[in-house]
Amino acid sequence: MFDYLIVGAGFAGSVLADRLARRLDKRVLIVDRRPHIGGNAYDCHDEAGVLIHKYGPHIFHTNSAEIFDYLSQFTAWRPYQHRVRAWVDGRLVPIPINLDTLNELYGLSLDVPGMKTFLATVAEKRDPPKTAEDVVVNGMGRELYEKFFRGYTRKQWGLDPSELDAQVTARVPVRFNRDDRYFTDAYQAMPARGFTHLFGNMLDHPNIKVMLNTDFREIRDEVAYDQMIFTGPVDEYFDYQFGRLPYRCLEFKHETHHRPVFQAAPVVNYPNEYAYTRVTEFKYLTGQEHASTSIVYEFPRAEGDPYYPIPRPDNATLYKRYEALAAQTPEVHFVGRLATYRYYNMDQVVGQALTLFTKLSGLKRKEAVAVS
Ligand code: FAD
Ligand code: UDP
Repeated sequence: MFDYLIVGAGFAGSVLADRLARRLDKRVLIVDRRPHIGGNAYDCHDEAGVLIHKYGPHIFHTNSAEIFDYLSQFTAWRPYQHRVRAWVDGRLVPIPINLDTLNELYGLSLDVPGMKTFLATVAEKRDPPKTAEDVVVNGMGRELYEKFFRGYTRKQWGLDPSELDAQVTARVPVRFNRDDRYFTDAYQAMPARGFTHLFGNMLDHPNIKVMLNTDFREIRDEVAYDQMIFTGPVDEYFDYQFGRLPYRCLEFKHETHHRPVFQAAPVVNYPNEYAYTRVTEFKYLTGQEHASTSIVYEFPRAEGDPYYPIPRPDNATLYKRYEALAAQTPEVHFVGRLATYRYYNMDQVVGQALTLFTKLSGLKRKEAVAVS
């Protein structure tokens, strides 16, 4: 007899399992149809012994002290500032676009005021910027948009940036300085022993039973429970009754190379060449020392496992219908990136799960999140 059946052992499901068991002494069964915990953040050692992220690069970053402190009870951290280069016009330049990007690309020696004047001259005002194209063209003009954003976005989403919400490209701002970090959040770190180790600690509690290789539909009539927490795709839960919500899929091609270093940066983006969007070399992220190195190529696909909700107006309208249905199903709580159809980072999913727990528990936020 369980108090909660939790579907999905990613961040959303695992945070709720932890809080319900440790804070409220509830009995929890958490199931995942994959053969492992961790959801998309799962990492493991490959055949060569290199720590890799099976579902693409995951870098933890947040501005929330609450979320960072909460996760810190389950892991030590390795400070890590992520850096990305883009392969544009036959050279590797910093992305997000900063002062060095422009100077290297155009052979200039602009200073910060010079960069501002340069971009003000080429920018095309879009007021207000409504689409993913508008955001970039409004900030840096058509030429830089075409070099860095149009091709990458078309590959990644299978859509032109003019068909996507502004929030998609707004994730990658312009930097009016020489800061070449991908993120500027207050907390940026990797779990010292990997994400799967962090999840193992979260779920290691006598009140939490983990069942892998199991779709919840196989067991939901076999086990007794009071309430369900669902973190899979919301349209799938409701048998696609209003039609399918579009999710973008990825195919990952992992490789190991028998040399210590493969490329000059942790991630290299390819906006214009090749069918893949980016190549990640994991040892930069994890700090592991090893004679070999492992990398992953990401090939966007229309079919396959769902990875990204696709932010555009039609999809938001369809999601609203599923959201209304979810609101009429009070015994099931929907949380996480797939269940609430939101392009959320890990920390945002942790925050969303803590908010749901606070509501379920009736505790004050501080008490709900407090380490017991
Ligand atoms: P998930 O991790 O998807 O977990 C849901 C789980 O539910 C899955 O394990 C699934 O198997 C299971 N499930 C679904 N349906 C069923 C069912 N019927 N029965 C049983 N189990 C089921 N975020 C960052 O902060 N930094 C990054 O650098 C970053 N990089 C990313 C790179 C890629 C390629 C991708 C795709 C995402 C990235 N993210 C990143 C986002 C991050 O992966 C998510 O925010 C986070 O993992 C979402 O957690 P979740 O619990 O909502 O979903
Ligand atoms: N993007 C781009 N060129 C780049 C990097 C990003 O066009 O070199 C766009 C693209 O649409 C991408 C979005 O900005 O999907 C967000 O990028 P981010 O790196 O945050 O994507 P994620 O890590 O979520 O895949």
